[in-house]
Amino acid sequence: MSAAALPGTPFVHYRGEELFVEEVRLADLARAHGTPLFVYSRAAMLSALAAYQRGFAGRKARIFYALKANSSLAILQVFARAGCGFDIVSGGELERVLAAGAKGSDIIFSGVGKTRREMQRALEAGIHCFNVESEAELEVLSEVAAGLGQKAPVSLRVNPDVNPLTHPYISTGLKGNKFGIAHKDALRAYRRAAALPGLRVVGIDCHIGSQITQVSPYLDALERVLDLVAAIEAEGIPISHIDFGGGLGIVYNSESPPAADVLWQRLLARLDARGYGDRQLMIEPGRSLVGNAGVCVAEVLYLKPGEQKNFCIIDAAMNDLPRPAMYEAFHQIVPLKQSATKPVTYDVVGPVCESGDWIGRDRKLAVQPGELLAVLSAGAYCMSMASNYNTRGRPAEVLVDGAQAHVIREREDVADQVRKEKLLP
Ligand SMILES: *Cc1c(COP(=O)(O)O)cnc(C)c1O
Repeated sequence: MSAAALPGTPFVHYRGEELFVEEVRLADLARAHGTPLFVYSRAAMLSALAAYQRGFAGRKARIFYALKANSSLAILQVFARAGCGFDIVSGGELERVLAAGAKGSDIIFSGVGKTRREMQRALEAGIHCFNVESEAELEVLSEVAAGLGQKAPVSLRVNPDVNPLTHPYISTGLKGNKFGIAHKDALRAYRRAAALPGLRVVGIDCHIGSQITQVSPYLDALERVLDLVAAIEAEGIPISHIDFGGGLGIVYNSESPPAADVLWQRLLARLDARGYGDRQLMIEPGRSLVGNAGVCVAEVLYLKPGEQKNFCIIDAAMNDLPRPAMYEAFHQIVPLKQSATKPVTYDVVGPVCESGDWIGRDRKLAVQPGELLAVLSAGAYCMSMASNYNTRGRPAEVLVDGAQAHVIREREDVADQVRKEKLLP
C-alpha cells in the first residue's frame, strides 16, 4: 500500500511501513496514551479551511464552523485562531465556543428546537444571528428578545426542497424533513418576522444535507434561495446576508466530492450571473473541515474465525465510532504497521453487546491480536457523538501539530462516568 491509497488527506500517511499523522508515528501515541485514541492533524484542518478561503478570496464571505461535527475545545481554538466563526445548535455548544475564546458576534445559532433559556443566553452573548426554523420559533424568539429590550437578528432557514443525493438520515432539505421552513411558506414567514417587535431580519439560510458529493444539489438550492431573496426584497424586506449551510462531503472510500474552492467557483459564477455576487455570503461547513483530519487508533483484542464470517474484535466500538451503526457508514481500516503476511477477510467489530456494533464489514487485513489498526476519516461525527454505552469511557484525543502532539482530552474513567449519580439511602 502506498500513501496515495489512503483517503482524504496527505497528512495521514505511511512512512516506510508505519502510519504517521504529520510527523508523529501513531504507534508511539498509542503506546503513550492507550487505545482507543483519536488523533487529529491540525494541518489537515487548516488545509481544508484554506480551500474554502481560496474559494472566497476577494468576496464578502465568512465561514462558520458547524461544531457538532467535532466540538472539542482545542479544535474550536484552532478554528477560532484561523478566523472562523461558529455555527452552534445548542446552549451547550454556545458555552464551548465562548470557552474556546470566540466572541458572541462570531456565532450563529441553528436548530429546530431552541429553548427560551438557550435563546436568552445567546442574546446576552450578543450572537451574530439566529437561524430560525419555524414560524412558532419566530414568535417565541421575539418575545424573549423583547423581554430583554433587544431585537434578535434573524435569518430564516428555508427548505429549498432539493434532493442532496445522500443518505436519507443526513438529508435535511426535502419536503418531508423536520428542518427549515417550506419554500412555499417562506414569504409569509418573512412578513411575519418583519412585523414582530423583537426581531430584526438580517438574512436567509439553507442547509440541504450532509456528505454531499456533487455540485448539482448546491446549484439547485442556490437558484431556489435566490428566487426567494428576490421575492422577499420585492416586499421591502432587505436580506443582508445569504447563508448556504454546510454539507460538503469528504472521502471515506471512493467518493470524489468537489474541492471546496471548485464548488465555490461554480456557485459564485451563478451568484454573479444573477447579480448577487457582491452580497455578504456565509457558509456553515462541519464534516469537510475536520472529517479527514482525524483517525481512531484501536488495538486488535481477538481474532475469532467462524463458518460464515471471521471476526476481528478491536477495543474501539460503536460508542466511540457510531457512524457505521447509525448510518451504515464506511470508514477505511488500516494497520499501523504494514505487513507482508497474506490478508484474511474479517468483519471488524467492537466489544459492545449489540449486533449493530460493527466498524467495518468484509475487510482484508493481515493482523494479529495486540497489533494496532487505524480507523480513518474519523475526525467528524465520531468523538462528538461518542457515548458511555456499556460503561465505556470515551477515548482520549491528541492533536498533532508537525512533530508535536498535544493531549486535548484525557480518557474518561469510571469515576468521571458516575460522578453525577447517586446511590439510594
Ligand atoms: C450539521 C449542520 C451543518 C454542517 O453540516 P456538515 O455536513 O457537517 O458540513 C451546517 N448547518 C447546519 C444547520 C447543520 O445542522
